[in-house]
Amino acid sequence: MKNPLLKPKGLPVFNSIQASHVNDAVQRTLEKMRSKLVKAETSTTPSFQTAEEMERIQDSIHQVWGPISHLNSVISTPELREAYNKCLPMISEFGTELAQSEKLWAMFSQLEKDTDPSYTAKRQLISHTLRDFKLAGVGLPIESKNKFKELVKTLAQYQASFEQNLMDATDAFKHHETVKAALVGIPYMMLSRAKELAEKEGKIGWLFTLDPPTYQAIMAHAENENLRSLYYKAWVTRASDQGPQAGRWDNRVLIEKIVRLRHESALLLGFSNYAEFSLATKMANSTKEVLTFLQELAEKSRPVAQTELDELEAFAERRLNPWDISYFSEKLRQSRFGLSDNELRPYFPLPTVIAGLFVVAEKLFGIKINSQNNVETWHPDVIYYEIFSDEGSPIGGFFADLFTRPNKRGGAWMDECLVRCELEGLSQRPVAYLVCNFNPPSNSDPALLTHDDVVTLFHEFGHALHHLLTEVDYPSISGINGVPWDAVELPSQFLENYAWAPEVLPLISGHYLTGKALPTETLTTLNASRSFQAGLAMIRQIEFALFDFKLHAEYDPTQGSLTEEILENIRNEVTVMKVPTFNRFPNTFSHVFGGSYAAGYYSYKWAEVLAADAFSAFKDSGIFDEETARRFRSCILATGGSREALDNFQDFRGRLPSLDPLLIQDGILTKETINS
Ligand SMILES: [Zn+2]
Repeated sequence: MKNPLLKPKGLPVFNSIQASHVNDAVQRTLEKMRSKLVKAETSTTPSFQTAEEMERIQDSIHQVWGPISHLNSVISTPELREAYNKCLPMISEFGTELAQSEKLWAMFSQLEKDTDPSYTAKRQLISHTLRDFKLAGVGLPIESKNKFKELVKTLAQYQASFEQNLMDATDAFKHHETVKAALVGIPYMMLSRAKELAEKEGKIGWLFTLDPPTYQAIMAHAENENLRSLYYKAWVTRASDQGPQAGRWDNRVLIEKIVRLRHESALLLGFSNYAEFSLATKMANSTKEVLTFLQELAEKSRPVAQTELDELEAFAERRLNPWDISYFSEKLRQSRFGLSDNELRPYFPLPTVIAGLFVVAEKLFGIKINSQNNVETWHPDVIYYEIFSDEGSPIGGFFADLFTRPNKRGGAWMDECLVRCELEGLSQRPVAYLVCNFNPPSNSDPALLTHDDVVTLFHEFGHALHHLLTEVDYPSISGINGVPWDAVELPSQFLENYAWAPEVLPLISGHYLTGKALPTETLTTLNASRSFQAGLAMIRQIEFALFDFKLHAEYDPTQGSLTEEILENIRNEVTVMKVPTFNRFPNTFSHVFGGSYAAGYYSYKWAEVLAADAFSAFKDSGIFDEETARRFRSCILATGGSREALDNFQDFRGRLPSLDPLLIQDGILTKETINS
């Protein structure tokens, strides 16, 4: 039988793909692409055709690997996971070979000189490729090159150990409780889980773990302050020299090593610190720009955060400790807004939300979205939609897989199925995967969403529009590809605003039994709740972002990482809540020490500022203003990574980004404060 993964281009034939096809398809494709790569490397005259050939090679690999990795996320089986894990190193190895090809690097360097600067997308493609060659260490003297490879390898090991320590420390903590009175307030679901766990271990009472949902539930709902304080201490001392497991999995030494090796690798590539290395692929231009950005946000938010804390203490009628904040915040939220998920769900049946979401997209971008039932999917829940222009020409499509089920990865995301491409021998329209984990419908009722779910759906759909409305011909810079990390959340966070807009809520809501729209008071309360404690949340994120950034920007090998000093200084300047001396937050900061957010955690806030500022253009002219939407589509969505993100933004907004719209959205600034 033919291998369905090796079929000619087009939509994958999901139903025919078996785990047994994976290895064969990957090996054969890589072999074929390797020989194409060698051929490209030996071509004597550098021309843009070589760049196009690289695009085709990478797309061919995506055509095979994309469906495999997608299926492994949405309908995983042990066989598929095994096949996936077996092939992953082969795929990465090919990526490394490509990224470290000296011959291609020389060719692209020549191409850069030969290419007419007015071909923006071509120039961008070449400059991105050259940048990635540089970041992979191509062109270094052999000794430095080997050292660089060694550093990258060791760093990966240290980061994995950091994660492992954190996981072991988290898993090892258990709290056994036998007196029911000690557990008042904790949600029923959490209690029954704890009871089951106790039974499993042959204990009476309740046994609690330290996974994030348990931790959050105890912090937000447990009336018993001793329990909250015990949990707080366990959480903030994981993998450290403090707390219930002091010294067992201490990450402190690893932090030191990781920061040092990052610094060394950045120096080898010609940067003066690791923060500069991180910014080489981001929209922010300099370390100074990022620090000023964060400090300015902090300065404006701090007084509001202080007021929010004062209000909370007044509400609690006492001074609060860190383990009291979530608990009293939850109580204050209830007393102020009284909105519960259960009250809102009936108003957001999924079919109504989807129909409203499509109306929003159609109104904004003049597109038409239709479902298609003759397209092969991987599960009966999945629906395929096609997108057309207002003149009826096809633009692309997307698969929506929205319900939770066993063997499906949690969370929500957008991924690429097919990437837009217009090259000789390869012409293809973009197709996206839109994946969520909502509660499925029952036999009698449709799926009912919380408002958080609705916001998530809009967010992911914003990513999908970025992918689908691209007009770029080269896959590596079309859609979300090539868009810097600190700008890629712009369209998704932008679209979230529509899930809150008073003009949109009637379109996306309707009681599933009566069809009645969301009552006006509920709508108003919902909107008011959006900025609840936004100052405290902002300050918290800024503390993390500043710590991450300064640690990498100010590293001096003669002094070490100065982790504690940096954090203390930031807290003195920024934070409003005093942090206990036993708190070892850095030892648990896996985004930065285990993951790939190093000197990049600020990206969350950066993109939020861009999104709020872009949306504010619509606030001035009307949220469905045709002209503004047309410009948003052409400047941001259609262009994507084919131009500098700042140019795209300035083109749309007519000026540099401003912090004010986000601060207004969060209720931190009022229009009056800005004008005064
Ligand atoms: Zn996102």
